[in-house]
Amino acid sequence: MKDSLEQGAFTIIETLLDNGYEAYLVGGCVRDKQLNRRVKDYDIATSALPERVERLFARTIPTGLQHGTVTVVIDGQPYEVTTFRKEDAYENYRRPTEVQYIDSLVEDLQRRDFTMNAMAIDHEGRLLDPFHGMEDLSNGILRCVGEAGERFQEDALRMLRCVRFAAEYQLSIEERTWAALLDNAPLLKHIAMERVRMELERMMSGASPSLALELLASSQLLQHTKIPLLLAGIHKVTKLNNVSQLNAPMECWAYLYLLLEAEQQSAEEELRQLTFSKQQVDAVKLPLAAAEFMASGLGSGSIEELERQWKLAVIQYGKDAMITLAHILTVDPAASESKGLTGSAGRILGQQGLHWLEEIPVDKLSGLHISGGEVISRMAVPAGPWVANVLQQLLREAALGSLANEKDVLLDRAEQIYKEHYSSGT
Ligand code: ATP
Ligand code: MG
Repeated sequence: MKDSLEQGAFTIIETLLDNGYEAYLVGGCVRDKQLNRRVKDYDIATSALPERVERLFARTIPTGLQHGTVTVVIDGQPYEVTTFRKEDAYENYRRPTEVQYIDSLVEDLQRRDFTMNAMAIDHEGRLLDPFHGMEDLSNGILRCVGEAGERFQEDALRMLRCVRFAAEYQLSIEERTWAALLDNAPLLKHIAMERVRMELERMMSGASPSLALELLASSQLLQHTKIPLLLAGIHKVTKLNNVSQLNAPMECWAYLYLLLEAEQQSAEEELRQLTFSKQQVDAVKLPLAAAEFMASGLGSGSIEELERQWKLAVIQYGKDAMITLAHILTVDPAASESKGLTGSAGRILGQQGLHWLEEIPVDKLSGLHISGGEVISRMAVPAGPWVANVLQQLLREAALGSLANEKDVLLDRAEQIYKEHYSSGT
């Protein structure tokens, strides 16, 4: 049974055939269908030129006309329809900006990266597999189409795709493909950091981040990025296995940087260079900063002290950062040893951290049942930096549970703090 997404793809293929053109399903959708995996999107290759495709369908978007790609919209769903093409002039180890249209499916499949990505399905559902992708898949092998070295030299991004696909589909990389990857690893320096980030992100959110990292480590591929990365040191990290136990990609990143013993600032800089969003950068840097803060404020390391410091960290770095840190310490209590937090402290935080987090009655200034204005009018003193400081102190005490989050109680305590610290002459 075809679902409606697949139905739409066949509608496009039929329309092209009815008009005298060839058309096939190609690429990832063919691979995933053969593996009984969920297909995310259907791509179609056709002998029709892009202008022709545009005229044959009511709704189209000129997504990548210079590459021969037109997006056709059927029932609100987009499909990429690409004219059979060859890419002869590769520039700077990336795919070319100009393509040459051809009329042969097999030649189109030949320009594709791996045998499992170079299969097609025709309008009757028959598999066309000139490069024996199915045979490789059933043997659990990832192999370049043609001469692997040439293929990586044409487009160095394929080396990262190779690692990603091997991890995602649990395939072993065919011997010559692997040898070519090792030989050509230095070409990765031609690839924009943004493309590197996109591949790394997909590895981390994929089926097996730890396998991807192991392959990155054993190939030392990341030693050759355009901008040098701390991540290049992952071959020295022995606990890559654990990464797969974390459930959010940014948690994996935070854990990796802890294992790499990265300073928060260097990690932050690196994530920026990789063009991660500010939100993603924060999701990594705040847990790192919180781990440092946890370690810095500890004396005896008693449970009471850990709890207090943890709750103070929650107000300072936010709940999300502390949830991440708790998850990491659950997976690996020794994760932040480089920050000075012992394994036994890490174990307690991994066990208690989330519970302590829930216990906190208020963790943000906006949650205090009092405003700066109310504090000012109570004291009848002009506003100044003291207001924020008093509010912060109230928040700490309320978060730790030593002060009720009630207006009158807070106001009385505000007055007391003000008198202790700010009023001269009394
Ligand atoms: P997924 O979308 O799950 O990552 P995919 O195979 O669909 O996998 P895409 O990047 O969407 O990957 O590309 C679609 C197809 O285009 C691939 O299956 C492959 O045939 C071809 N392709 C994509 N990128 C390259 C590349 N850098 N070199 C050669 N062929 C490529
Ligand atoms: Mg795809």
